[in-house]
Amino acid sequence: MQVPLLDLKAQYATIKDEVLEQINEVLDTQRCIGGPKIEELECAIAGVCNCKYAVGVSSGTDALVNSLMSLGIGQGDEVITTPFTFFATVGSIARVGATPVFVDIDPVTYNINPALIESAITERTKAIMPVHVYGQMADMDPIMQIAGQSSLAVIEDAAQAISATYKGKKAGEMGTCGCFSFFPSKNLGGIGDGGMIVTNDEELYHQLFIMRNHGMEPKYYHKYIGGNFRLDPIQAAALLVKLPLLDNWSQARRKNAAYYNKKFKETVVQTPMVSEDCVSIYNQYVIRVPRRNEVVKHLQSNNIGCEIYYPVPMHLQECFGYLSQDVGSFPEAEKAANEVMALPIYPELTNEMQDYVVDTILNFLS
Ligand SMILES: *Cc1c(COP(=O)(O)O)cnc(C)c1O
Repeated sequence: MQVPLLDLKAQYATIKDEVLEQINEVLDTQRCIGGPKIEELECAIAGVCNCKYAVGVSSGTDALVNSLMSLGIGQGDEVITTPFTFFATVGSIARVGATPVFVDIDPVTYNINPALIESAITERTKAIMPVHVYGQMADMDPIMQIAGQSSLAVIEDAAQAISATYKGKKAGEMGTCGCFSFFPSKNLGGIGDGGMIVTNDEELYHQLFIMRNHGMEPKYYHKYIGGNFRLDPIQAAALLVKLPLLDNWSQARRKNAAYYNKKFKETVVQTPMVSEDCVSIYNQYVIRVPRRNEVVKHLQSNNIGCEIYYPVPMHLQECFGYLSQDVGSFPEAEKAANEVMALPIYPELTNEMQDYVVDTILNFLS
């Protein structure tokens, strides 16, 4: 049996005709930048996130970069974040000239540990950037409280968590703004790169809006140096077809997660923990296992897709060597990086495929 980590063809087969029709509509108008599809998607995503405003952008990474730029964060500023994330989180902070300041994770949820944030705040701190890793939101109440006390912005990196909730609040709803990615492997994936920023702050919305188009307002007048962070209408067209299906897909992922959880019960495999406060969208289903690297190799040689998110925490990446954070600085992130692995969890996965994954792991470890 073959079990890929993700099977986008299975999903595409169910929506192909509608996607092609929507893309054709865009092509027939030859309105290939901006236009009604972008606005329709922004409106719909704002709705999903219980936010007033949304700005479509070219990627999740550009959502983060635009947010930082629009909040005026740059040289000399510090942004507190987690070392256990995809590179884009920390890369964005560094690219605007600010300094990433890491705080270790909660080993159970893999999200930033709010209890460690306060001691990382200095007079240069401008923002906290929590990441809702694997599809489960970070512990936002204490994060918002700490941010409020010190007048810090909170930029939610919600790239893996669209429509996930924390105490009934949506990803992107609580922070100053929330950043989403439509990279094809996210729960809501486009047919290429794309992203979105949501906010309830009208002034920030306006700044995000003009910064995505070179900081231009009015035409050919530039008070700010922005970029080309625009979302393509072809992406918006495809995403508008997929968005109504998002909740069903996330539900199917939760069902698959529950099935794995049951099968791994009372084994050496440590299954993911979802806080009582949260509904996860399981962008990834991540276990901890002994002899992790051998298990990964074994699955691969049995035609089972799996991946390590993420093998090297950000403070140990070569490019961030200038931050002088040695091995041992963030022990929980480092431990997680050595023990975690993600299993296939996509909606179209069958119980038979899951049985094969579970048996292959347990047979190897027994
Ligand atoms: C995917 C991802 C991003 C970047 O999104 P792109 O659309 O690929 O630029 C940023 N942060 C996290 C946590 C992600 O998972």
